[in-house]
Amino acid sequence: MSSYALGIDLGGTFARAAVVDGGGGLVSAAKTALVDRSPAAVVEAIALAAEEASGLAQDATLEACGVGVAGQLQGDEGFISLAPNLGWRDVPFGALLTARLGRPVKVVNDLAAAAWGELVAGAGKGFSDLFVVYVGSGVGSAIIARGQPLRGARGVAGEFGHIKVQPANGRPCGCGQQGCLEAYVGGVNLLAQMRDLHQRGQAGALLALTRNDPAAFTPAVLERAASSGDPGAQGIYEPAVDYLSVAIANQITLLNPARLILGGGVLMNCPGMRERIREGIQHHSTQVSLKGFTVAEAALGDDSGIIGAAMLAI
Ligand SMILES: [Zn+2]
Repeated sequence: MSSYALGIDLGGTFARAAVVDGGGGLVSAAKTALVDRSPAAVVEAIALAAEEASGLAQDATLEACGVGVAGQLQGDEGFISLAPNLGWRDVPFGALLTARLGRPVKVVNDLAAAAWGELVAGAGKGFSDLFVVYVGSGVGSAIIARGQPLRGARGVAGEFGHIKVQPANGRPCGCGQQGCLEAYVGGVNLLAQMRDLHQRGQAGALLALTRNDPAAFTPAVLERAASSGDPGAQGIYEPAVDYLSVAIANQITLLNPARLILGGGVLMNCPGMRERIREGIQHHSTQVSLKGFTVAEAALGDDSGIIGAAMLAI
């Protein structure tokens, strides 16, 4: 007897839904474009995608439903305090979606969901001690110790993006604090720093790589400009990579995982960053923690979030 769950990935432009089996395999999938981003319209778009996906998998009895959202969550009820991609602030999303779908819904951060998907069905399959780091628009992570997710006393362990890397006058973070890792290395924050550089008239190398189009700035462009020796780009890239690689190396020392999995748009598109992380671990982690230790890249691509959301809900 296999169990099935509905997984939903809510991005800024699409709501995707899929029926996922107990092993993390996709049974059916559907997506709806978000034309209107008001909470009511988004809930309706999700319901359409969910109905289509479950209609395509009629034999599957759904036991649970999980949603990954790019936003900051508060409490266990899926209350979203801030979701910049959707323009939301203080939306009782979990309650709205539960009412519309007529079933309990577990709402999680999208990167945590993606990390979890990799853990159970991707590059982490078969490992019982893992650390997964996703750097996309933000920074997400998942820790599995002896085959169990590390949740902490109140279920909020693993907020790797909000460990502090700059105690004095740190960059403000979306979480309301300052000096968080995510404020330096998250994709949204890398782009914000690139735009600031442009406003100060110091983004020549970035503009040269994008045919003078600041709208085409990406973390990959930043990496190329930094590796060409441009001081402006290096001023953003170097601290970001240093903070990230030391932070990861410290977690390897602390947690002693068998494998580290790296994923997310920023890390997947910046090979230099992944290389620096590998070097940082060799340099900074304790040698005993590196015995038999491996680093792998995320294997599920865009499906990791939807699979992870479903699996977290089961
Ligand atoms: Zn933060």
